[in-house]
Amino acid sequence: LKKQAGLWLKQARPVAQSAVLGAGIMGGGVAYQSASRGTPIIMKDINDEALALGIKTATKLLDKQVEKSRLDEAGKTKVLNAINPVLDYDSFNTADLVVEAVVENPAVKASVLADVEHQVPEHAVLASNTSTISINLLAGNLQRPEQFCGMHFFNPVHLMPLVEVIRGSKTSDETIATTVAYAVAMGKTPIVVNDCPGFLVNRILFPYFNGFNRLLKDGIDFKRIDRVMEQFGWPMGPAYLADVVGIDTMVHADTVMQQGFPERMQHDGESIIELLLADGCLGQKNGQGFYQYG
Ligand code: NAD
Repeated sequence: LKKQAGLWLKQARPVAQSAVLGAGIMGGGVAYQSASRGTPIIMKDINDEALALGIKTATKLLDKQVEKSRLDEAGKTKVLNAINPVLDYDSFNTADLVVEAVVENPAVKASVLADVEHQVPEHAVLASNTSTISINLLAGNLQRPEQFCGMHFFNPVHLMPLVEVIRGSKTSDETIATTVAYAVAMGKTPIVVNDCPGFLVNRILFPYFNGFNRLLKDGIDFKRIDRVMEQFGWPMGPAYLADVVGIDTMVHADTVMQQGFPERMQHDGESIIELLLADGCLGQKNGQGFYQYG
């Protein structure tokens, strides 16, 4: 089997330079992980503050490595130098693979992907880090849909081993092999899954969040639910997880899941995360979620 996998991976194109669109929770994590594992990465966002946040994420993680004597200052500088923060597409003509990690909104993603396709070399792979949106839907606007797939990392990127590599109906074997090989080079465990809303992991996770929402509506305190799930042995409960993921990202993803599987995923009335979002709570990223931070 190993030999078969090796033969199949031979189709992978080398990724000497990668890029990530979005320097948020996920983009910053992808940039750190790629650079620290030896693949230089361009990190693009739409404003300086967002880029600074992405660099801050990477710097914090590197400082921890230095504290633990796993890395020296020269090593830290080398990794930081391998992340190139930019506001334009000027350097994208060197990118072999681009991970798109902008907000979880189909229209924004479709427009960003269509833009970047004109900026990269013809051989480049485009991979979306969408949590829930159909890869076939996003491929619809692209001129080279065979060079497009999903590359779904989990949060926090540097800790979570799994990466879902999502095959759209037009994705080529070479694109899948290149993305799988890049995930392995980043120290991750890729699994290849077919396209559908939520792919594999979020089809398991969102029914869990729906159960959580029902309990909240029954009047049970979210802190109690979190404590119980921690006692059960999970690293964190659903309320804390929603804050880590981002309430806005949760609401976008929940909408896509409800549309994708109306019979299974639709909930009655507004969900608690929708109410939080309406109150301006984004979770840990702005310090206000189920819990208060900072
Ligand atoms: P985020 O809100 O932290 O970051 C999104 C970033 O995209 C922001 O910095 C924003 O300025 C930037 N952006 C918006 N439009 C852009 C454009 N046109 N070009 C470049 N940058 C642009 O969001 P996030 O949590 O990092 O999520 C990003 C993607 O990753 C979403 O698709 C989300 O579903 C997915 N994802 C999130 C998690 C999670 O736990 N947060 C986990 C897995 C996947």
